[in-house]
Amino acid sequence: MVNDECKMANGRTFVILHSSFAILRYTIVGMVQPSLTQAQIRPLPIAGQVGFHDVVRGLRGVGLTQHSRVIVHASLSAFGRVVGGAQTIVGAITAVCGAVIAPSFTYQTLLVPKVGRPDNGMAYGDDSGDADFWRPDLPAHDTIGSIPNTLLKHPAAKRSSHPALSFVAVGRDAEHLLSLQTLDEPFAPLAWLADNGGDVLLLGVTHRTNTTIHVGEWRGGRKPFVRWALTPERVVEFAWPGDSSGFDAIADSIKHIVVRGQIGTANVQRIPAAALVKIVEDLIRADPAALLCKDPDCERCRDMRKRSQ
Ligand SMILES: [Zn+2]
Repeated sequence: MVNDECKMANGRTFVILHSSFAILRYTIVGMVQPSLTQAQIRPLPIAGQVGFHDVVRGLRGVGLTQHSRVIVHASLSAFGRVVGGAQTIVGAITAVCGAVIAPSFTYQTLLVPKVGRPDNGMAYGDDSGDADFWRPDLPAHDTIGSIPNTLLKHPAAKRSSHPALSFVAVGRDAEHLLSLQTLDEPFAPLAWLADNGGDVLLLGVTHRTNTTIHVGEWRGGRKPFVRWALTPERVVEFAWPGDSSGFDAIADSIKHIVVRGQIGTANVQRIPAAALVKIVEDLIRADPAALLCKDPDCERCRDMRKRSQ
């Protein structure tokens, strides 16, 4: 048993007793003096530990309801310690919102040809020996995080069949949303969300993961790149977005529409998708180089600048 002693501003001393079982922590409410026998004891959650109801409260706190449709981007590690892990986060989001969609992208299917069209934001060179075949149960790429892979295991989950940019969805409109995706319009489900009152939900991540910004880029006139992926039937060609490393630059322009909250140690942002897409579209129209990153070695941003000149 380890005790912490806390000095209060008025000079009184409180003692916090930590249970050696580390399940519940008890705070002594009252002064150590004159008598411990007068202490009232009440349970508190362990600091930094996040439970299902904490997540539900946090999501409702930023205005999400059964009427909400959200595209979610989340980092499990950003929350601190979560009781039940990714399943708790996924369970809470699907319990609170009417429809949930997340990227379940499979970059492991991408092919790199020896040669290809110029200014395509990539280096060619036949580096495709490790590519996986697309299949409906192929896990989302490691860089996409554990939340989409957990959502894929939800009993009501549906997944689109794009070989590299699939989405997973649960809830109202899930099948309709996913059916809108095509090889030329891989982000059509997000465009639909934007046009139908949906929200972007960022949980412990920044705009670098905010795929809906690509919808605004393309509506603003930015042309997609082209990529290829391996499927059991053939090599499939499709539209591919620009780099998102510079997307955090959008923060200032949208701060008036972001609803902020906190769950555990994770920052929560709910962003109305329609307003976000319109702001991005206007930014790109005003400055075709807006939201591109500053890395001189970034092939996608280099070629996007070249195309816009
Ligand atoms: Zn870049």
